[in-house]
Amino acid sequence: MRKETKLIHGGIFGDEKTGAVSTPIYQTSTFKQDAVGKDRGYEYSRTGNPTRESLEKLINDLEGGKGGFAFASGMAAISTVLMLFNAGDEVIVSNNVYGGTFRVLEKVFKRLGIVSKFVDTSLKDDVVNSITKNTKAIFYETPTNPLMTITNIREISRIAKEYSILSIVDNTFMTPYFQRPIELGADIVVHSATKYLGGHSDVVAGLVVVNSEELAHKIHFLQNAVGGILGPQDSYLVIRGIKTLSVRMERHEKNAKEIANWLLEQPEVEKVYYPGLHTHPGYDIAKEQMDGFGGVISFELKNKDMALKLLNNVKLITLAESLGGYESLISYPAKMTHASIPEEQRLKLGITDKLVRLSVGLENYLDLIDDLKNAIRS
Ligand SMILES: *Cc1c(COP(=O)(O)O)cnc(C)c1O
Repeated sequence: MRKETKLIHGGIFGDEKTGAVSTPIYQTSTFKQDAVGKDRGYEYSRTGNPTRESLEKLINDLEGGKGGFAFASGMAAISTVLMLFNAGDEVIVSNNVYGGTFRVLEKVFKRLGIVSKFVDTSLKDDVVNSITKNTKAIFYETPTNPLMTITNIREISRIAKEYSILSIVDNTFMTPYFQRPIELGADIVVHSATKYLGGHSDVVAGLVVVNSEELAHKIHFLQNAVGGILGPQDSYLVIRGIKTLSVRMERHEKNAKEIANWLLEQPEVEKVYYPGLHTHPGYDIAKEQMDGFGGVISFELKNKDMALKLLNNVKLITLAESLGGYESLISYPAKMTHASIPEEQRLKLGITDKLVRLSVGLENYLDLIDDLKNAIRS
């Protein structure tokens, strides 16, 4: 099956019992057992629920894994994966990782004895040099948020195998429609399904896919033991979102390319970060490992005042955190998504006070360009 078809027919299509085409919402906490020790595949909805299972099988098919798992948020998914590790273990993490991931590593897992080492994972030597006998995993995003740094998934996967450590990729920005890390050798993929997979800014959810039965057992154990599961209503919403992922991602990308090229020509804009631009430092690797470049663009204006003017004067584009919905959202990483990163470190990463992030929606791009133009020149 090709990927567009898989979005529709992957996982469990409809409902076996009734023929319902849309996945039913099994709004139940528990399931009748026919005799002691004899159930029909489900016992209790924390352990397994048919609506959630439908989503879990779908994301597993899309990523090409050996087990999929759905959680109450991207952070619940990421935290559950991090619970694979023990006190004394070290994890190598992309230095410009999502702010919430940075926070949970530094304020929660560090307290439990799991040490994070933040490195630029696009630099292979820096990754290799950070590996010690205690290193258990490399956790990274590609492209990163918000600067769109590209890490070579094949290369990092190879290093991880060589040192017998896990490689974990946060694939939120690309979705399996544009990038499938497990096919490139990664062990675990995590998602904030709140973004493109859900796609309608109406649900918070997280997903995990693993590349082995052994990891599937471990993650299922943790999912059931810790309990951060996704409910049936929200599982349904994510399935519904995924059905239209192909048409949405194509349009997000088409619009983003138009806007990135327009931004390059504006005198108020100093720098544009979009992996689809030939001038982007990760362009060649991006082209190799991704089927598309996605819908997020970051750009720097000439100064902070200009950035604030733009952010405060857009009318069609909404000033809000998050990304990946049908509507265009604009945000200010320094004070929003990356506010939990200490200023000194934030500036070192290139997340300056002039930087703006745009999640390009599905509107007509000409209207978006008009809105940006009017806001910058207001
Ligand atoms: C939003 C996001 C998360 C966190 O997901 P939630 O669903 O908000 O908990 C993790 N990683 C990336 C890249 C994100 O954009």
